[in-house]
Amino acid sequence: MRPLHLDLKGIIPSEKKFLKWLNWFRTRGFDALVLEYDCRVPWKVWAGAGSPLLTKSAVKRLVGHAEKLGFEVIPLIQIHGHLEWILKNPEYSFLRENGNLNELCPCHAESLPKMRRWIDEVAELHPHAEKIHLGGDETWHLGTCPRCRKAIQNDPARRGRMGLYLDHVSALCRYAWEEKRLRPMLWDDMFCGGSFLPSPGVFPEATIFVHWKYSGKVTDRLDRIRGTGFEVWGASAIRCAWKHHHWKALNPIGERLANIADWEKTGLPVLHTTWGRPNNLWNLYGPWEALIPEFTAAGSPEKWSVHPWRSFVRELDNALLHADREALKELADNALSLPCGDAMEEEAKNWFHLGIRYELLHLESLELFQTKRCLAVLNRYGCRDRRRAAEYRDLSRECQRKTALWERDLLGFWRRNELSDEAEYLDTRLAGICHGKIRTPEER
Ligand SMILES: [Zn+2]
Repeated sequence: MRPLHLDLKGIIPSEKKFLKWLNWFRTRGFDALVLEYDCRVPWKVWAGAGSPLLTKSAVKRLVGHAEKLGFEVIPLIQIHGHLEWILKNPEYSFLRENGNLNELCPCHAESLPKMRRWIDEVAELHPHAEKIHLGGDETWHLGTCPRCRKAIQNDPARRGRMGLYLDHVSALCRYAWEEKRLRPMLWDDMFCGGSFLPSPGVFPEATIFVHWKYSGKVTDRLDRIRGTGFEVWGASAIRCAWKHHHWKALNPIGERLANIADWEKTGLPVLHTTWGRPNNLWNLYGPWEALIPEFTAAGSPEKWSVHPWRSFVRELDNALLHADREALKELADNALSLPCGDAMEEEAKNWFHLGIRYELLHLESLELFQTKRCLAVLNRYGCRDRRRAAEYRDLSRECQRKTALWERDLLGFWRRNELSDEAEYLDTRLAGICHGKIRTPEER
């Protein structure tokens, strides 16, 4: 089994282009899709929240197409943590755990009923689904509100904070399995460090635990969950947070390829995750076109092992790591002459060209920004040199001209590939270029 996770809270293509991506993912060897819907579907149970881009009819068409192609489609919703898109809204603030925007209070009387209704809605949208992923990761604020603290004190089993988690999450796993015949899946990180492990008496035996590890030795803590007897999957990251992701256009590819290859060696089913933004309160990462090497390596390792882009990818990582402007200039040109096997690779090649130009603009504009400050200080100390000031002005104008060209080409790319969130993506990247003009939504 080769499952691919797509985090739809990131940048997504139009329905028409999404269908093409599904065809491409299938040719790349994936045979299951975990669709993380988050804020992108107008859920009845969370009316008024989110930024829906897909109607329920569109989801049905996408899922139907995927199933026809031979994909198993597994819907993913979060039932405890990472509910920023809901809880940031004042009308749902009553469900926050101790005022935190990311986490639901599991002891609130409305929490379980609302989550059950959400599972009903998801099940209705996926009549052929066999599994449902219920998230369940990173509930950092467990047991901090007065209601939850009281529940911990009154717990006869003395399970502490994890008792709250176990009761809430296992109740919903049982609901999914017993009422909807959907095998529940959960991220396993809440069991990785503490003294509790899931047991068959608490969770349905059909539950699948997914152990995500995106860097370092992937099997470090795997044995803990494997000892429970439940089915265990691993999870790699095709894309996850990287250094300075809030302004960068390109992520280091080598570390992603290494993570994918390490998981491949375990022989477990591996869910390859493709994150769209760190959470609903952080920046968008970028379009799927940026991830063609990683998608290929995860779906068809044998195809990647002989792929003609391997040396380009290595050189690009190296140039980005060392902020090597000469190498980056060369690579921006080289990107455009990469040999392409299909239309997706053609657009990926264009994306790399644009991404490298952006990284260069960032470096140049930062240097100009620092130069401007230094020249101002020198002027104050009587070291005024008109020729130097004119040179600075010329360079600055040239950088502004290149920024405007980049913006034009980015918008061309966005519209050709029918991508979402154009204004937000452009504005967050321009914020990383000192000459980039940052507009407010009202100015657009
Ligand atoms: Zn609480």
